[in-house]
Amino acid sequence: MKAFLTGGAGFIGSHLVDKLISRGDDVTAYDNLTSGKKQFFEHHLKNDKFTFIKADLLDLSQLKKEIKDFDVVFHIAANPFVRLGEKQTRLDLEQGAIVTYNVLEAMRVNDIKKIVFSSSSVVYAETPPLAIPETYGPTLPISFYGAGKLAAEGLISAFCGTFDFQAWIYRFANVVGIRGTHGVIVDFIDKLKKNPKELEILGDGNQQKTYLYVSEVIDGMLQGYEHSTDQINLFNLGCDSDTTVTRIAEMVVEEMGLKDVEFKYTGGKRGWPGDVPRFQLDASKINKLGWKAKYTSDEAVRKAIREILDNS
Ligand code: NAD
Repeated sequence: MKAFLTGGAGFIGSHLVDKLISRGDDVTAYDNLTSGKKQFFEHHLKNDKFTFIKADLLDLSQLKKEIKDFDVVFHIAANPFVRLGEKQTRLDLEQGAIVTYNVLEAMRVNDIKKIVFSSSSVVYAETPPLAIPETYGPTLPISFYGAGKLAAEGLISAFCGTFDFQAWIYRFANVVGIRGTHGVIVDFIDKLKKNPKELEILGDGNQQKTYLYVSEVIDGMLQGYEHSTDQINLFNLGCDSDTTVTRIAEMVVEEMGLKDVEFKYTGGKRGWPGDVPRFQLDASKINKLGWKAKYTSDEAVRKAIREILDNS
């Protein structure tokens, strides 16, 4: 397979590059290195099956020139920071919706019709305390990041309906693991390195979310891609357990070998405006295709903490 991968220098994207290259696929990674890092892909630079292009997806004319002769586009690039929308209200419009439009339009003019997209559980926003299936609606996100994801899903659906594209859309739970550069684990480790006596925890610590280990997410995406043939293939990627923010803080403290750390909660049920404090995804649709997370949410968090500490 010849794959074009946006966000290929990022946390999840670089793991996808590793996996595709290990299978013998041809991969072109396209990334502006805003949050991605060269060190995540430089081990492939001498491999003639790997190409890296440093460029911005907002530049549609360059994108049209570069997306040529690929079997599939994995569109993984986005602003990864859910919290930024509160301060920068255009960010997810550009990095979620416009960038996705550019990718789709560049595909259209080059007659490439298969797209795999990394969406998020945040499109569901606040739901009843049940495992939420892909058929749940209405989907009315409460963050700009979630709005960007839902807009991107809508654009993908429009290109499918109008230009006969085929799509695989994955709504991920929180993804953790080695090369993680953002999110609650990285935040806690950074804060405790600066002050090992005290840890600021956003919200009341009871936010309860599912965490998935990154290699499992990659396997799930490829499993769905290779075993589903609808025009739009929409999947939740999650598992049936979750982890509270306070539990993550305790695990980080344990793994750093710290004692008597005072947890200081900022209070409120959300970590920040637009934060969804609790969700559970029903992953039975992708489970039926043969993918199931092997790690529980706690195990994924523990493994990620150890790996991030070992590599910092
Ligand atoms: P990341 O920041 O590590 O990866 C995003 C990559 O996209 C980075 O390498 C960045 O440099 C690149 N990028 C951003 N804007 C770009 C632009 N305009 N042009 C070119 N490159 C650009 O984040 P991640 O955690 O690996 O997330 C990957 C995808 O998965 C994102 O779409 C994110 O929204 C989605 N997602 C992540 C999680 C999670 O928990 N990490 C959960 C749900 C969905």
